[in-house]
Amino acid sequence: MLLRAVRGDITRADVDVVVNAANPGLLGGGGVDGAIHAAGGPDVLAECRALKAGLPGGRLPRGQAVATTAGRLPARWVVHTAGPIWSADEDRSAVLRSCYTESLRVADGLGARSVAFPAISAGVYGWPLEDAAVQAVAGVRAAAVQHVQEVRFVLFDDRALAAFEAAL
Ligand code: ADP
Repeated sequence: MLLRAVRGDITRADVDVVVNAANPGLLGGGGVDGAIHAAGGPDVLAECRALKAGLPGGRLPRGQAVATTAGRLPARWVVHTAGPIWSADEDRSAVLRSCYTESLRVADGLGARSVAFPAISAGVYGWPLEDAAVQAVAGVRAAAVQHVQEVRFVLFDDRALAAFEAAL
């Protein structure tokens, strides 16, 4: 797997799979989640609703991942994963790494060759950026894949890009 970091808007990424930093409720939200649903259109949300109906309590456990098609995005699929909320008292980094490992497992199962990730949990969920980048790279490297050849971290600003470049 080739890993690289670029600056950009993930909704425009030309890849097979875009990973969404969703929340357990799966029905959209702010940040990258809102941007992906706005750009992907109503089909993505409809598929999320259907997936949600099949989940215990209607919630996707943090650290797990599910796939929908990508609607109007250039990508073929969106893999939705719910990151952990940062805690200074509890080490939740295994859950954050799992978001990356599980998303890649799901993407690989679809036959994806290229996957774009945002900086999961580094926005509203408050994870310190430098460590979010370290956990992201570790989570990706822990994945065993057959099809995925490229993982692209698509970062929204220069600070995030610098953190991921340092982690790589
Ligand atoms: P979380 O709730 O997991 O913290 P957020 O969406 O709040 O997720 O933020 C995750 C990261 O995604 C932040 O670094 C934010 O700047 C970034 N982000 C927001 N919109 C986009 C986008 N369109 N493309 C790529 N990254 C984005």
